[in-house]
Amino acid sequence: MKKESFYVDERGYYGEFGGAYIPEILYKVVKDLKEAYLPIIESEEFQKEYCQLLRDYVGRPSPLYYAARMSEKYGCRLYLKREDLNHTGAHKINNTVGQILMAKKMGKTRIIAETGAGQHGVATATVCALMNMKCEVFMGATDVERQHTNVERMKMLGAEVHPVTTGNMTLSDACSEAIRDWCCHPKDTFYIVGSTMGPHPYPDIVARMQSIISKELKEQLMEKEGRDYPDYLVACVGGGSNAAGTVYHYLDDERVKIVLAEAGGHGVDSGHTAATMHCGTTGILHGAKMLVMQTPDGQIEEAFTISAGLDYPGVGPMHCNMFQKGRSKVLAINDDEAIRGGYELTRLEGIIPAIESAHAVAALSKLTFKADDVVVLTVSGRGDKDIETYLKHKEWA
Ligand SMILES: *Cc1c(COP(=O)(O)O)cnc(C)c1O
Repeated sequence: MKKESFYVDERGYYGEFGGAYIPEILYKVVKDLKEAYLPIIESEEFQKEYCQLLRDYVGRPSPLYYAARMSEKYGCRLYLKREDLNHTGAHKINNTVGQILMAKKMGKTRIIAETGAGQHGVATATVCALMNMKCEVFMGATDVERQHTNVERMKMLGAEVHPVTTGNMTLSDACSEAIRDWCCHPKDTFYIVGSTMGPHPYPDIVARMQSIISKELKEQLMEKEGRDYPDYLVACVGGGSNAAGTVYHYLDDERVKIVLAEAGGHGVDSGHTAATMHCGTTGILHGAKMLVMQTPDGQIEEAFTISAGLDYPGVGPMHCNMFQKGRSKVLAINDDEAIRGGYELTRLEGIIPAIESAHAVAALSKLTFKADDVVVLTVSGRGDKDIETYLKHKEWA
């Protein structure tokens, strides 16, 4: 039997997940993208521009930092991959830099994006300012209110923010609205998707754009540990893009164990959760087959978590397949555990992580390591945006 691979197959699927479930009107634009994306990404011209921007604009390579005090606490050799040090404060910029170059190569003149917490919206508005492209961001009206600073950042960067008033008025509704807009302007518009979701080829595009994370890990681990792979990779999962980037070059390497933290909210049995892999069933959302939190008759259920960036009722198809086949171990981390993890990293290492990343930190306490295990944890973003939430829940620390 052929060895199982966890990369996308030629039909756009990861096992039974993925595909492109799109309305007729988008068929041509998705087909064009499918035919164009690999030749563009693999071209010398793209690679040159992309690598230059990642280096001089984003600030890559992001450091791989040996966290001595955390290592002592967990009894392993813990390294932090510092995506929090990127321009705009998270990994999202890796992807928006790549996709806007792709949009330009395809002759598109208008950019749209969805955003929840506003991090992807800001990363998109940033590269649009850089490239002088028209930018429109769809954001649930509830999030517009909750994430006011990011709305102002996007506007300052020249983007137009459209509050979405359908459904729960959060990320899932913003995605639907962005897809609706794309249907109306398929010719001139490029949709910059923010995570490893959406119709094929988007999950593969985003995973490749973020794969710079594990590409750098190979070199950095070789330099620091004398071998180019760790024993464990740990990351948080919302739609799955920072996790996909972290594991990308190790997907089919069985020496490397993959541990992912999804947002448990109040708990997987509480009815207030975003733990899609624990609680979801197979369904179709935003153009792909994935695990989705839904009612028995297929209505999407609202996700709940303290962390705006993990607040999505689905999870990208690559992760659904890895989880289903046992390639990844997925832990649901509850709100209080994440807050505790965030305070712990702050006090032991002087690094305030985004609450999303704090979920990955909290996963460490649920694992048992051998003293010489090399563990890499991706700090997907910085916590400046979350200070108020940390303060509000100080009692959990
Ligand atoms: C958006 C975001 C996430 C979640 O998105 P993924 O696509 O799952 O990576 C995690 N961490 C931070 C800091 C984010 O901004």
